[in-house]
Amino acid sequence: MPRTAYVNGRYVAHRDAAVHIEDRGYQFADGVYEVCEVARGNLIDMTRHLDRLGRSLGELRIDWPMHRSALTVVLREVVRRNGVENGLVYVQVTRGVASRDFLFPARTAPSLVVTAKKVDPGLAAKRAESGIKVITLPESRWDRVDIKSVGLLPNVLAKQTAKEAGAQEAWFVDTEGYVKEGGSSNAWIVTTDGRLVTRPAEHGILRGITRTTLFDVAARLGLTIEERGFSVAEAKSAREAFISSATTIAMPVVEIDGAPVANGHPGSVVLSLRQAFFDIAEKTQA
Ligand code: PMP
Repeated sequence: MPRTAYVNGRYVAHRDAAVHIEDRGYQFADGVYEVCEVARGNLIDMTRHLDRLGRSLGELRIDWPMHRSALTVVLREVVRRNGVENGLVYVQVTRGVASRDFLFPARTAPSLVVTAKKVDPGLAAKRAESGIKVITLPESRWDRVDIKSVGLLPNVLAKQTAKEAGAQEAWFVDTEGYVKEGGSSNAWIVTTDGRLVTRPAEHGILRGITRTTLFDVAARLGLTIEERGFSVAEAKSAREAFISSATTIAMPVVEIDGAPVANGHPGSVVLSLRQAFFDIAEKTQA
């Protein structure tokens, strides 16, 4: 099945899909995005993803590119047209096309791009069986990482550094030695007495949708969450560590900077969260 993308009002062949060279997303990274998981033909947590999209747009004073309810139709249509049963749907909104100038253009419509991609769910399941490795790096991003902006160069560099070190994710660490989050995921540990710990999302990290839904999952499983910072040292000596994101759900971390977490195998708490996740997350049929 040939892939189809939605670009500014039209469904087009993915290989021909393009935006203008003076799109402000291309020139200034002046835009925001969302990645929503698709599992068994359902969009997962679409409401929360669109809520966060609205927040990101509001923080940057970019208008919704269309009414929110119309956007849900486009998301589902792109998933359907691409025959995605399992995978992801990507939404990007930029401030639009305008002659290059730092100042906001006076009357420019936002650009909207929606794509969808199939991902073999077996890959993540397999990865969860072995767990992933992370490295830690000093924070190198701007202060407003609570906005899901397409300006991701520090994340690109950090994740490439991780890959070259044989790891799958990089954790950004603040100047006090506390873990902030991953290049494309939130960071968690499980203490020796079984409590989940993750950094508060008010400032300095992206409020992950998976992170929010994992609060619901944890409540259902009777697990306690402490929202507080944890240091790299605490993570290394934790009972378990894991990351969360729409594409990885809850993914065990078995090694940090070359040192094993606990016995170096995925822990039972993260696996139970992973297993219960789709029962509790919101599902919207495509
Ligand atoms: N932090 C960052 C920097 C991310 O890029 C992502 C992935 N979008 C997350 C956290 C996790 O967010 P979510 O659970 O909404 O995918």
